[in-house]
Amino acid sequence: MSQSLNNDADILIVGGGLSGTMLAVQLLRLPGKRRVLVIEPRAELGRGEAYSAVELGHTLNGNAARMSVDPDNADDLTQWLTQYIAEGGWPESDQQPVPISELFPPRGIFGLYAQQRLQEARAVGALNGSTVEHVRAEAVDLRTDAETVHLTLNDGRRLQGAFAVLATGMFPAARTPQTESSGLNAAALDPWDVATMRQLDPRSTVLIIGSGLTMVDAVVSLEQAGHRGPIEVFSRHGLLPHVRRQPPAWVDFLAEDYSIRSPRQLMRELRRHCRDAIAQGIDWQAPLDTVRAHIGRLWHQASDVQRRQFVRHVRPWWESHHHRSPPLSAELVARLYKEGRLSIHAASFKGLEPSTGHEVSIRLRRRGDVQSCVVTGAALINSSGIEYDWRRVARPLPRQLLARGLVQPGPLALGIAAEVDGAVLNADGEAASRLFAMGPPLRGMWWESTAVTDVASQAKALAERLVLGETR
Ligand SMILES: Cc1cc2nc3c(=O)[nH]c(=O)nc-3n(C[C@H](O)[C@H](O)[C@H](O)COP(=O)(O)OP(=O)(O)OC[C@H]3O[C@@H](n4cnc5c(N)ncnc54)[C@H](O)[C@@H]3O)c2cc1C
Repeated sequence: MSQSLNNDADILIVGGGLSGTMLAVQLLRLPGKRRVLVIEPRAELGRGEAYSAVELGHTLNGNAARMSVDPDNADDLTQWLTQYIAEGGWPESDQQPVPISELFPPRGIFGLYAQQRLQEARAVGALNGSTVEHVRAEAVDLRTDAETVHLTLNDGRRLQGAFAVLATGMFPAARTPQTESSGLNAAALDPWDVATMRQLDPRSTVLIIGSGLTMVDAVVSLEQAGHRGPIEVFSRHGLLPHVRRQPPAWVDFLAEDYSIRSPRQLMRELRRHCRDAIAQGIDWQAPLDTVRAHIGRLWHQASDVQRRQFVRHVRPWWESHHHRSPPLSAELVARLYKEGRLSIHAASFKGLEPSTGHEVSIRLRRRGDVQSCVVTGAALINSSGIEYDWRRVARPLPRQLLARGLVQPGPLALGIAAEVDGAVLNADGEAASRLFAMGPPLRGMWWESTAVTDVASQAKALAERLVLGETR
């Protein structure tokens, strides 16, 4: 990035992962001339944590037909992938005898797809004189006044824009002050770092905290690294993600009955439909998949009491049944489980214990036990998820935004509060006219606000909203 950067933009996008990049794509496609700056410390736009993956085994958790970044064309990824494979990309895909729409692409390849869509949109935008530039830095502070948003970067540069969008994505749980002080972050291996895992004794025991999709990726990484020893997985409920299948369509029962509102009603109806499906020889995933399109509405209209009920009683079930594992990864986990190499325990992580340089010990409380116990392994992997509570995120920008009162925590302290159009609410509950958010920071507003399709549809709506704002 040159020092001679022109500091004035129409729109500043903070974060150049999938959200920020898709917003840029949508802005480039709209009429009008505008200059967009995307502030992102990573070398490439469009990848973020998820799509920076380099291992072919770290795949999307949905098949190509479900992962389009174009809300107007569900086949967009399938079409791109068809051409990519025809041109010699991803040669290993021919080992899977399924149509391209049913393939689960490696996330690194999905990152290329997002980048290519940005490149094409840049050409479209250029016809109007619109540009998108990558400013490689971290935004550390933000102020607004009546006309402008002012951004300070970690290298001291300052940028101004008419609007700014927080597309800062997800913050890993281990980077919170609370867990940092326990040393968990320092003691744990990166779930995706195969090179480091290769240095482990292949017969040693590896401990994993968390049993969701990151754990599944970690098991794929260990296998790839040649690890052949025991893997002990610990999570509060000890539930593994189900495998994603391709269920047939099912009646959209929530579209037909808007009286279903509470978590209890939802679960009762959903169970009934799942039972009906199974009785007809149809996969229970068919009715469950119809719920996805309504979860944002149900969450948004729910009271905080109902939301808490959902988090307490439904969330573990929702996570394991809805956030499903790609088939090849699930097969690996099932095989290791069957061979007795992988075991799963319902236990809560209580902290790290002092241990020698060659081992790591953790304190756990197994479900139903009063006493805690200590478990030791050669390595530890933390796959316990995401920190959505911005008050616990140890990054400068979330801290400054909260300290300046420019944002307030969202419902149940998940992310930040915003209007339906993404305008963030300040500490007094007033909607900002120049500051917006999208993607994972809006978890508390919509519950599901992180997946490819959530991000893609939010990007389109927000781009239209911002362009409308330009003319006001
Ligand atoms: C490992 C993993 C796998 C996933 N797999 C799937 C999947 O298969 N299917 C699916 O639908 N979803 C998946 N997801 C969900 C995924 O988060 C979304 O698909 C998408 O990546 C969200 O994009 P984002 O840009 O909002 O967030 P992120 O990808 O987290 O990107 C946010 C970006 O903002 C930048 N940033 C943060 N703070 C600042 C700052 N202050 N200044 C400048 N830049 C900043 C970060 O560097 C980062 O690159 C996965 C997520 C992860 C973590």
